[in-house]
Amino acid sequence: MRLFNVRVLRAQGLSTPTTVQLDVADGDDRDASGLILSPGWMDLHAHLRDPGFLQKETLATGCASAAFGGFTHVVAMANTSPVTDRAELVRNLVARAEGLPVRLSFVGALTIGLEGKELTDATALRAAGAVALSDDGRHAMEKATLRRALEGAAIAGLPVLIHPQKEELGVTPEAEVRAVHEALDVLRDVGRSRLHVQHVSTSAAADLIRQAKGDRLWVTAEATPHHLSLTTEDAARMGSAGNVNPPLRSAADREALLDAVEQGVIDVIATDHAPHEAAAKQAGANGFHGFETAVGVVLGLGLDARVLYRACVQRPRQIVGQPIDDEWTLIDPEVDWTVDASSFRSRGKNTPYAGRRLRGRVVMTVCSGHVLFERMVQRV
Ligand SMILES: [Zn+2]
Repeated sequence: MRLFNVRVLRAQGLSTPTTVQLDVADGDDRDASGLILSPGWMDLHAHLRDPGFLQKETLATGCASAAFGGFTHVVAMANTSPVTDRAELVRNLVARAEGLPVRLSFVGALTIGLEGKELTDATALRAAGAVALSDDGRHAMEKATLRRALEGAAIAGLPVLIHPQKEELGVTPEAEVRAVHEALDVLRDVGRSRLHVQHVSTSAAADLIRQAKGDRLWVTAEATPHHLSLTTEDAARMGSAGNVNPPLRSAADREALLDAVEQGVIDVIATDHAPHEAAAKQAGANGFHGFETAVGVVLGLGLDARVLYRACVQRPRQIVGQPIDDEWTLIDPEVDWTVDASSFRSRGKNTPYAGRRLRGRVVMTVCSGHVLFERMVQRV
């Protein structure tokens, strides 16, 4: 398939309109004037709920949803049931993912049952295919345990992803700041381990990460589209539909996070895709659907093209050591559309953007030589 007059998103920014040949079996040549061709976006933080919570999502519905949202590679977290804390479980998931349309990578648990006590076998998890270790969803670890966890992960050659939240302090900004502070302290001590801070939501935590990077610690960080676009005011309007962990924060926090993304202090934009069935969400469950609104929300942030490339394409892959391989997302940056959760491919319709207008939408996703889906462009 040839795309004519398409602008390509690259590390240096957007190219001028050009012709690109995509190596796909099942597509016709087309005029792509006004469209942006990006290497496939990678979501470094998603909950696919499989095994254990199939009413929320499955590997198959998660992949369909990811493709629809422009993601060609997704990293799935370990808080499934059973928790992905043994090599055999990672191996099963990797085998199941093989026939799926988008690339899936899996995170192994850092501690057995995510309980923060007994470390998992980092080397065995890596050998089984895990690309990182994390107790995401929990942060029950003492400093001494985190230290041993970072050392073990370093020996296995894996990064440690943390969900920074001192559990005894609830979901307050302080809970995040203290957890980040403590983790960076441990990292400073341990040296050559790799720490990745998930869903940073506060200005103060971003400052700590900025400082740590200045001190040349091996730390990376991510923020979610919702923390970059919404605040406590939006949460107040949404009632239980606005429940998310960490919670939406102040406008000042939101602005500080955006600055941190622009500066590269926050490396990655990752959705924390957390699908729930309607009943669970109404009962107060935390988390938002992420995949199918991400491109529109992120384009709406007004980031420079080089920052987009870094945050959505390049850095997520660098952090978990994955290549960009024959995967593309074709985006119409100008189209306005209204978010209608009932149209989602995901089982989770729990979006904070329901009924909102977004500008910018995925037109086509290509992975491993196949067009995964294609949307007719209608400008309104
Ligand atoms: Zn998460």
